[in-house]
Amino acid sequence: MSTFVPPKHDFPLLVNREPIVYLDNAATTQKPEVVINALVGYYAQNNANVHRGVHQISDEATGMFEDARKTVANFLNASTPDQILFTRGTTESLNLVAYTYAPLVLNDKRTVLITEMEHHSNFVPWQLICECMGAKLLAVKVNSDGTLNLDHFRELLRSQRVAIVSITHVSNVLGTINPVREIIDLAHENDAKVVIDGAQAAAHLNINVQDLDCDFYAFSSHKMYGPTGFGVLYGRAELLHEMGPWQGGGEMIKHVSLEKTTFQDPPHKFEAGTPDISGAVGLAAAIEYLAQQQSQGLDEYERHLLSYATESLLEIDGLRVIGTASEKSGALSFLVDGTHPHDLGTLLNEQQVAVRTGHHCAIPLMEALGIPGTVRASFGLYNLKKDVDRLYEALKTAIRILRK
Ligand SMILES: *Cc1c(COP(=O)(O)O)cnc(C)c1O
Repeated sequence: MSTFVPPKHDFPLLVNREPIVYLDNAATTQKPEVVINALVGYYAQNNANVHRGVHQISDEATGMFEDARKTVANFLNASTPDQILFTRGTTESLNLVAYTYAPLVLNDKRTVLITEMEHHSNFVPWQLICECMGAKLLAVKVNSDGTLNLDHFRELLRSQRVAIVSITHVSNVLGTINPVREIIDLAHENDAKVVIDGAQAAAHLNINVQDLDCDFYAFSSHKMYGPTGFGVLYGRAELLHEMGPWQGGGEMIKHVSLEKTTFQDPPHKFEAGTPDISGAVGLAAAIEYLAQQQSQGLDEYERHLLSYATESLLEIDGLRVIGTASEKSGALSFLVDGTHPHDLGTLLNEQQVAVRTGHHCAIPLMEALGIPGTVRASFGLYNLKKDVDRLYEALKTAIRILRK
């Protein structure tokens, strides 16, 4: 086991709400003090509107906002910061691609490929735009162990005129890490562009958009220890230049007249209105904090904790893990014979263990697997083996009550 020591004391909520064990990190993570302080510090010292003031404080705010863009570019290893668009989160990032890029390449004979394991936010925007454009939306099948059926993916690439492949890096239900590098290469050989939903990857994996060679990459700040309501879309420069603006308003224009408006270059073309400046500042602080933890051996620790949790829970009679891929990260979904996920979740809550139950915004996946939902324990950098032991004991108690 690595020497990494989970820094629970960096997280005020975890201390304030003891003895609650927080195992719902795939829904949102708690925030370290450095992120909370960055938000407070910004509002107490540097708050002004960006990109328009001639005064000192506006200059400072603009500097912090654009520095955050550089921090994000480094985090993703993007070649330039102007390929980083700030959004409200993964959902908005995926909608932005669907509404501004998809219309350029979808006509009635072309197809968008997603997978059965997508979160609704990588499902519904494509369904809406495909209906609107008269294009087809097809989903790659998931195998019973929670891996993607790559043969089915290859077959769809061969038989369809695929314009866009949009796929999650890590499943929020199964924890499966998809072989996105291979998927991107296969898609590119078939002239399709690739969008990666990185919402569950950003806190756990090293992301390198140049190595991956993806066309778009989306993630949310709040799932990687940053503030809520803020997120990122990376887009390949040449694609961002082709794409039209999405929302119109201030900040995104070069010149406006009654006849015609001209627009800023990316990324500002896609950022109409006053942005969430504090969100950018908070995310930059979260990225720095996460990098520090990673340099202390976080990755190895997280892998170890997930296998410890899996082995522990499998000792429970009648417990079945949903998603048993060899490459997994973050989330552990399960069902227990003779119990309903919701009842288990309720009884865990009564014992101060916070998990999520239900369909996890992935109803098509539940249907593909033929299950009503799951109980999901998902881990963050502050979770201890002791938290897993609390989950284990609380589950045994819950099962005893439900089976009586
Ligand atoms: C949470 C999540 C989303 C949506 O993220 P928001 O922050 O709610 O916009 C999309 N995809 C996956 C895989 C997620 O886990």
